[in-house]
Amino acid sequence: MTVKTRFAPSPTGYLHVGGARTALYSWLYAKNQGGQFVLRIEDTDLERNSQEAVDAILEGMKWMGLDWDEGPYYQSKRFDRYNECIDLLLSEDKAYKCYASKELLEEIREEQEANKEMPRYDANHPKVVAANAAAKEGDDYVVRFRNPKEGSVVFEDQIRGRIEISNSQLDDLIIRRTDGAPTYNFVVVVDDWDMGITQVVRGEDHINNTPRQINIYEALGAPVPTFAHCAMILGDDGAKLSKRHGAVSVMQYRDEGYLPNALNNYLVRLGWSHGDQEIFSEEEMIQLFSLDAVSKSASAFNTDKLLWLNNHYIKTSAPEYVAKYLQWHIEQQNLNIDNGPAITDVIELVGERCNTLVELAEQIRYFYEDFSEFEAGAAKKHLRGVARGPLELALAKVEALADWSTESIKEGVIAAVCEELEIGMGKIGMPLRVAVTGGGQSPSVDAVMALIGKERVIARIKLALEFITAREANA
Ligand code: GLU
Repeated sequence: MTVKTRFAPSPTGYLHVGGARTALYSWLYAKNQGGQFVLRIEDTDLERNSQEAVDAILEGMKWMGLDWDEGPYYQSKRFDRYNECIDLLLSEDKAYKCYASKELLEEIREEQEANKEMPRYDANHPKVVAANAAAKEGDDYVVRFRNPKEGSVVFEDQIRGRIEISNSQLDDLIIRRTDGAPTYNFVVVVDDWDMGITQVVRGEDHINNTPRQINIYEALGAPVPTFAHCAMILGDDGAKLSKRHGAVSVMQYRDEGYLPNALNNYLVRLGWSHGDQEIFSEEEMIQLFSLDAVSKSASAFNTDKLLWLNNHYIKTSAPEYVAKYLQWHIEQQNLNIDNGPAITDVIELVGERCNTLVELAEQIRYFYEDFSEFEAGAAKKHLRGVARGPLELALAKVEALADWSTESIKEGVIAAVCEELEIGMGKIGMPLRVAVTGGGQSPSVDAVMALIGKERVIARIKLALEFITAREANA
């Protein structure tokens, strides 16, 4: 049987980190098994759902690279099918109409609480029986699933192990409301059945629904899939992860400059392990992932570790990959990279110094844009009278340099100036750095100059010399 998994978000907001990890696990399991992955949008709650939220979820999935083989299916388009199944259960007496009003059920609940009984729906309660007997054609009713009264539901959760719930604890669930809308626990079963889902991977907030759903599968004569319920994600303070902890939406991680492969690697390790390995390529994740190795206990989010992974992936990913995701930040920062070196070369040089793509986009501006002022602190320290001689000589050497490369700049400009003037590297390196980048921090200055280009380097050294002249005149 082909393995088929799904991710079934309710579009009530953005794709949050918890959902994203569930989606990733479900996707990885399907890939690991050579199976299929289905995306289903659970949009039956018309009041709480929005197209905007659907779009945000699709955007998040695409950004993470979690492609689906089927879907997106929309529950809101499948009401006829749900009703067909409800009618089938009604005709087989596996479901029934209940006319007891909300007020009546509330009254019974209060009675039960006063008597210290567990508050629950009781189809045999005399008041419920009386309400049903008195019902007329046209009165409002709900459809309830006739849950088995005897025995228990047992299932083997792939993550949490064996779970057993006695049917005596499960009451007759509403499967269609008075307004005709089918309910979550019912539609999820019909969908997973119709879509041939063999493995359900979802959050542990659904674990209590599972026994009810299993009874519905059985009533429908549908094969019961295997279940895996993932534990929660907590913030670094141990509380349930929420906006208070910073970013929780996947797209916010994009905005903050994370690479999807870093976030995916981070999320896969948040609750899953393979020995003490921390870095997993996508191929490795697919090959090694197993639900059995997913932890039962909650995992705490650790932003420092995510940053560390992000730096790792900025450093080691193909520069073309980094460039693809850097593009958005370049646009956000209004940087035009048409006029300057190839962005992939710049990424290779500057990337390793950055933890995020926001930083990277900030640090590459001088490769593409000329400036008329130097960073005040760096200029004060390094563009002084003593730097004039070394900079003038460097300018002459740059102008005379036939071959323009990191190596020739290193030898023919920097080393040559040091030798001729008998000065240390710092006496030319730092002034040159401030001259060509505008600031005091950059990768190796010869490599930076090579990428900035000869013409620009000449103009910038001249600007630095003018700065020194003006400074001396003012002194
Ligand atoms: N729609 C549910 C949610 O977003 C998931 C249901 C399921 O996976 O069975 O929490």
